[in-house]
This record gives sequence, C-alpha cells and structure tokens, in this order.
Amino acid sequence: AVEVHDVHKWYGAHRVLDGVDLTVRPGEVTVILGPSGSGKSTLLRVINHLEKPEIGYVSVNGELIGVKQQGGRLKELSERAILAQRSRIGFVFQNFNLFPHLTVLDNVAAAPVATGRLGKPEALDLARELLGRVGLAEKTGAYPRQLSGGQQQRVAIARALALRPGVILFDEPTSALDPELVGEVLSVIKDLATSGTTLVIVTHEIGFAREVADRVVFIDGGKIVEQGPPHEVLDKPQHERTRDFLSKVL
Ligand code: ATP
Ligand code: MG
Repeated sequence: AVEVHDVHKWYGAHRVLDGVDLTVRPGEVTVILGPSGSGKSTLLRVINHLEKPEIGYVSVNGELIGVKQQGGRLKELSERAILAQRSRIGFVFQNFNLFPHLTVLDNVAAAPVATGRLGKPEALDLARELLGRVGLAEKTGAYPRQLSGGQQQRVAIARALALRPGVILFDEPTSALDPELVGEVLSVIKDLATSGTTLVIVTHEIGFAREVADRVVFIDGGKIVEQGPPHEVLDKPQHERTRDFLSKVL
C-alpha cells in the first residue's frame, strides 16, 4: 500500500500541495485528475521521493519514505534508505526518459543489474520476457530513437516492471503521443491493471479512467477535492470544481 499522510509542499508562498491524504491499496488502480498546475506531478514526485514535503510523509508497503514529523521535528531518511525505497517504485514519465545510448534490451536490463538484484544474464532474460509482454520482442536490439513514441513508452513500462516494483506511478503517459499511438500504450497499462499491479496514473483519458480505475481522485489547488469509484466521481461529481473540470475535458 502507498499511504500519503497530510503532505504539504510549498515553493516560497506558493502552496503546491496543501494537506494531501491518500491511500492506495495493493492491487488497486488510482487515477488522478486535475487541472494544469493543481499539483498532480508534484504528488507523484513526493511519493517517489523526487521532492521532499515540508510537512507530512509517505509510506510504501509500511516503509516510510521521506520526512516524518516526530514531536514537531522532521526526521529525514538517509540517502541510501531513500534509494532503496525508490527502487521499489516504478515511474513512467510523459517523455519516456529512456537511455538514448542503450539498446531497448539494455534499457530494461540496466536497473536490476545496477541495483545488484540480478546478474547480467538473468537481467537480460527478464528484459526479454518483459519486452515480450509489452509486445516488443522484435525490438530488443533497437535504440530508442529508432522507435515510435508508443513503442518507446512501452519500453519505459517494461523498464519500470524490471525492478518488480510494489507500485508503478504514471505521469501523463500518453500525452506526448500522437493520437493513433495512445491506444497501444493504454492497452499495455490496462493489462497491468487487470493482472493486479498497483498503479497510480495521472491522465486526462477519462474513458480509460472509467474502464480501469478502482478509484478516481480529483485534485485542485493542491487539495483533494473529491475521490471515489469512477461511476461516482465521473458521473455524479459532488463538487462544482470537479463538474467544471470534467465539462472541459469530456
Ligand atoms: P500539469 O497538468 O500541467 O502537468 P500538475 O498538476 O502536474 O500540472 P505540478 O507540476 O505538480 O502541476 O505543479 C504544481 C504547481 O507547482 C505549479 O504551479 C508549478 O508551477 C509549481 N511548481 C512545480 N515545481 C516547482 C518548482 N520546482 N519550483 C517552483 N514551483 C514549482
Ligand atoms: Mg504534471
């Protein structure tokens, strides 16, 4: 489970996250919606410890990440503990972020080797298996620049899976893609969802959210405005701000 406890994040006077509480249970798919600048990426970055909250903390599978408030004092984890915890969380970015100088196979095999989890031969076997799973068995020797955006994003998903993470975070995984490539990436994510992988997905794909989300979270101005199953939040939103947002994206 991922638990976000009363997380506050600010830059100067700008409150980007303003007391966010969120629980993601194992096997659940959570879709996060919200207007531009509402704090969605920042929330994912806090969960993955790419940003430190000023107040509050995050725990993943019972292990604390980041800062915990103890008797009014902030206790920080060592850099080593943070790295260990981050290696249990997958992160898929809008712009793929593949290593351009490595083949597709080596992109996927790199992290298990670098973290000492697997030897090189085992990591290559795993990478082949995962690339098959995302429909790219034929592309193992290609370099990222030789692939379409949809293919690159599927490599990025295989790479995230290679660390056998407890949860995978997606930040607008299809918004940099040409429209005709969106479907192939959503279908890979859908397969992960139905196979019980814990996923947190920031997306504007409302139809996809309706189909795969166990829970939809609407965030605005750094606060969770409402959350619930898709048929409630998407079809019967309780808050004016949610209705306003949905009327613009639907
Ligand atoms: P989008 O839909 O456009 O991706 P978002 O909901 O992901 O938006 P965030 O990227 O989380 O929004 O940003 C929330 C707010 O925090 C924005 O107003 C942004 O300008 C601000 N912000 C984010 N990172 C920083 C930073 N490093 N320094 C200062 N302000 C920042
Ligand atoms: Mg964002």
